[in-house]
Amino acid sequence: MQILAKCPQCDASLPVDIDAAGTPAAIRCGRCGRDLALTVTDAERADRAVDRCPVCGGADFYARKDFDPKLGLTVVIIGAGISAIFYWFGRDLIAYSILAAAALLDLVVYGRLKDVTVCYRCHSEFRGAYRRTAGAFDLHTADRLELEYERKIGRR
Ligand SMILES: [Zn+2]
Ligand SMILES: [Zn+2]
Repeated sequence: MQILAKCPQCDASLPVDIDAAGTPAAIRCGRCGRDLALTVTDAERADRAVDRCPVCGGADFYARKDFDPKLGLTVVIIGAGISAIFYWFGRDLIAYSILAAAALLDLVVYGRLKDVTVCYRCHSEFRGAYRRTAGAFDLHTADRLELEYERKIGRR
């Protein structure tokens, strides 16, 4: 499983690979130099489940699509660009078809994406073959837990 640990101090994303062979007990943030202790559970080491966040110790997670918004936007922009050329030459029907195809492609790409599990508190992300158990994002839970975490690390 791969973890994208979020540095509590500067919000840098720090990729950490976790496997049975060995996991670093601590990592150092490449941006601000802060040391981050990692407490990895057995389930996480075996890529079975995400049960406790190795970065903040929280046990509340949500699932979201592992979507890169830049990629989706690129598909739509390229589609719109090609479509505009056909439109310019008076081929409206082709222009609209290309636009529709680009939107459809976007949907297909979105639908095929895997879920990524995210920690409510520190926003670390977990990618791997483990079984997805986290529910959908809940704003109330997020508000409550983020506040609690920020107090804990002394941001508020
Ligand atoms: Zn940092
Ligand atoms: Zn966390």
